Parts: sequence; C-alpha cells; structure tokens
Amino acid sequence: MSTTAEETHSKPAREVADEAARRRTFAVISHPDAGKSTLTEALALHAAAITSAGAVHGKGDRRGVTSDWMDMEQARGISITSAALRIDYGDTVLNLLDTPGHADFSEDTYRVLSAVDCAIMLLDSAKGLEPQTLKLFDVCRARNMPVITFVNKWDRPGREPLELLDEIEQRIGLRPTPLNWPVGIAGDFRGLIDRADGSYTKLTRTPGGATRAVEERLTPEQAAETEGETWVQATEEMELLGEIGAHIDEESFMAGQSSPVLFGAALPNFGISQLLDTLVKLAPPPPAPVDARGERRPIDAPFSGQVFKMQANMDKAHRDRMAFVRIASGRFERGMVLTHARTGKPFATKYTQAVFGSERSTVETAYPGDVIALVNAAALSVGDTLYASPKVEFAPIPSFAPEHFAVCRAKDSGRYKQFQRGMAQLDAEGVVQVLTSDVRGEQAPVLAAVGPLQFDVVAHRMAEEFNATVELAHLDYTLARRTDAASAPAAHALSGAEVLKRRADGELLVLVHNKYRLRVIVRDNPGLVLEPLLAGGAD
Ligand code: GDP
Repeated sequence: MSTTAEETHSKPAREVADEAARRRTFAVISHPDAGKSTLTEALALHAAAITSAGAVHGKGDRRGVTSDWMDMEQARGISITSAALRIDYGDTVLNLLDTPGHADFSEDTYRVLSAVDCAIMLLDSAKGLEPQTLKLFDVCRARNMPVITFVNKWDRPGREPLELLDEIEQRIGLRPTPLNWPVGIAGDFRGLIDRADGSYTKLTRTPGGATRAVEERLTPEQAAETEGETWVQATEEMELLGEIGAHIDEESFMAGQSSPVLFGAALPNFGISQLLDTLVKLAPPPPAPVDARGERRPIDAPFSGQVFKMQANMDKAHRDRMAFVRIASGRFERGMVLTHARTGKPFATKYTQAVFGSERSTVETAYPGDVIALVNAAALSVGDTLYASPKVEFAPIPSFAPEHFAVCRAKDSGRYKQFQRGMAQLDAEGVVQVLTSDVRGEQAPVLAAVGPLQFDVVAHRMAEEFNATVELAHLDYTLARRTDAASAPAAHALSGAEVLKRRADGELLVLVHNKYRLRVIVRDNPGLVLEPLLAGGAD
C-alpha cells in the first residue's frame, strides 16, 4: 500500500513533534582502541536493547554492528562502512551512528558527523587526546556541535583526572565541566561521585565483567566511612573544580564551547548509566532542519531527509546499493513515494530498511533523527535530499580535505567504457573524489581520499562490480587547496604542485607535496588564491 504525502501529513503533527523530542542522534568520536566498540556494546547492553554482552559488538565477532559486505573487510577485521544502531532507553530513542575508522579513515567517517546532533568524545584515560580524535573533533567544532566527553578505562592505571581536563581545555579549547568525579586513582577505581547531588555510586566488579556492574548508591556520609582517605582526596579535588567554575552550562555546551565530562570504564560497565542519562538530559533532540536557502522547515512538516552515506554490496545475495538517509522532518512511512530533489524524479520506498546490527529489518515508520536505509538507490548520491511535497533541498554535505592521491588507470584499455562507468559511479557515491585535468587526460584521473583504504575499496569494486581491473599509482602529494580560474595557470606552473578539477563540483584544487612546500608557495606568491578545504585535512 502506498501513502501519499497529503495523507501522511494529516497525521497529527503533535505526534511527529513528540517522537522527534524523544530522539537523540549521536556518534562516538575516538582514536582506535579507546574502546568505542566496547562502549557501544555497554550502552546497548545497559539500555537492555540486547540481552548479553558480545551479541552486538564483541571484539571476536565484529559482524554484529558492522556489516560483512566485503571479503576484504572480513579479512582485515575492520569496519569499512557504518551502520546505525537504535537503542531504546526508557522513553528515549538513542540513534547511535557508527563512525567507521579503525586502522583507517575515510570520508564516510566524517560524513556520519553531518548526520548527528551530538558527539561523545571517547578518551582513553591513559592517553588523553589522540590524533584521530582530534581530527574528528575538528569536524564537530566546524559545525559547533555539542560534545559530551567520556574518559574511559578508569579501571586501569591512567592519568590524573585534573591533568586530563587540563589537556582538553589547553589543546582544543573545550571547557570541561565534569558531571561526576572518580574516587580512587585510575587503576584503583572505587566509584563515582555525582557532582549534582554529592551522592556516591560504589562500583563492584562482577566476575568476568561481561554483565552489568553492581552499582551501590551511598550517601556522602556512608561513602566517607567506606572509602576513608581516598574519599577525602576526591572531595577535595571536587571542591577545587567548584572554585574554578567547572560547572555544567547548557548554553555553552550547545554551542560546542564546553563539554560535560564523565569518568567511567566501558568494559566493566562503570558509569554507563550516567552516560545514558546524560544523553537523555543534555543531548539535543533533532532540530527543525535548515534548507539550502537558509530557511527552516518545521520538524512536523512533511517528510524530508538527506542521504549522508551510500553503500554497495552489503549483502552478497542482493547486489544492491543502499542509501542511508537521516530524517530531517516529518513522519516516514514505508511505501511513501518521495521526490528526489536533484532530479525531480519520484523515489519509491517500498523496500526501506532499518539497520540494526547485521540484521536488516523492514521499517514501517520513522521520525526525525532516525536513519533509514533505502535499497536499490543507485540514482541517489551523498548529500541528496528526498522529500514529500512541499519541495525542499538541503545544502550539500561538504567534502573533506583529502590527504592521499593516486592516479587510476584501467589495466586493459579495451575496458575503458567499464572503467568510465565505474569511476562515475564511485564518484557519485562519494567513495573517493575524482579529479581530472587536460594534462593527465580522461583516461588517467587522479583519485583523492581522506584515508588510503578508500583506494583499496576502489580497486576491489572496479574489478568486481565494473569488470575493469585498475592500476593505482600513488602520488607524492599530501594536501589540497582550492583555487580559482584566474590563479590556476600560475598555480599549475609551480614546482611541487599541480591543478586538477574535481569532477563532482567543478572546483579547482591545487595539490601540494606537503605543508612546508605550501608555506614557501604562499610566501613567494602572495596573490595566488589558495583556500583551505574543510576540516579533516592535515592543514
Ligand atoms: P575500539 O577500537 O575503540 O573499538 O576499542 P575496543 O572497544 O575494541 O577496545 C580496545 C581494547 O580496550 C579492548 O581490548 C577492550 O577490551 C579494552 N577496553 C575497552 N574499554 C575498556 C575499559 O573500560 N577498561 C579496560 N580495562 N579495558 C577496556
């Protein structure tokens, strides 16, 4: 049965507003090994979305949340693509979007951040801020996104809490406002004081740590008696926080200037309920979306959504292409016929799916903040808008600054047609950015990627799907700058630089060997237009 836009809109707008209000759509930003998988599992477990640890995201079986869509992915044991995980917690629906990026990074990692309203910055208590976390944080910062900080692995020896807070403030200028405070040093973790009411949650490990830790709530008096000197030390530190004014401030949190901090340990499930409660209380529900012209579409307006990720071959049995859409406004009902804003063509949603773990289940209705996966979506590209009348189109998702470049050629020149088709498709899907120039010619485009693994994906898909085996030759460039037509000839003539056109949007990019070379170029050519691309690059 198909439903028209009008019928859908006649459903009480109140329902859409209420459903949107109880949703929280977020992602975890972290460096590999900080504990993202463990935290994901702990959140799901704690929220009782699943019954036993390991079922969703066990280290030994990552296929739970991520999808085993390619042999390559399995062989490497990493997640190339991401999925959305829905966690019901009381009355709240938590949509956790996975940011892929274990040993590697890709544009997908960044694009996911364009589809969330909040991020959890996950830090390893012994390591503090690490490179990948910093890169991802830059993207959050560029969008003024609210960030909640979770300092993980508190059960192991690590750094001093005050030192970690200091690092956050000094290095990224994010003012930390701890919500809880650890009792006992990292490695001898006793429990957490809730700064809001001074109550103490004593934590007792359960054997194996696979199930929820036993959390015992004590009054400050009881806690002082049980923990002795350790308690005194923790309360003294906490008083210090009061003096420096590290209090939660919702306005600056929402502006991405301050960050509520929680200490805990995902593996033994310490402090996970506090994190869930913080998401409910502080993380923002989906806002009314703003379109490309800067106009706000009410959250209860008819359906609109934006594709933030494309994925192919999720399931070997169905050679399809999936579009992941974040709902921006309105109620989605399976079977609705939507309009694809870029082409004006209708798009049927009969086979829409929700993605939970490796299971694909059919979704019947969904609301703002939810992610739906549309199958047979070859016509869609990252950034595209789908809507039910009235028309709306959202601003494109920015492409990120590539740091890896390679020339791509068809091994067999007789397969040039297949080669061209594959390049066009992978470009449209946003697997890599395709750059061309008259100098290099159409047969040898330059591929630009955020992470080198994207090239492996290209090679694999070109051979498997498009029947065009390719050769990739890495280029010795590490950064790109945007230029204009007037500056292009001069930029192209520079040594250690080259100008290419980005196929997707026609932007002219200057590729440069490294930042030292760039510095010299800028110094010696003050008139040249060389603008940085968006966050994510080494610049
Ligand atoms: P990811 O790479 O960020 O997904 O990290 P994982 O979740 O796979 O965790 C990396 C390692 O850290 C694994 O061996 C986890 O068991 C371990 N780990 C994660 N959280 C904790 C924690 O709270 N305490 C301790 N001791 N180990 C943890």
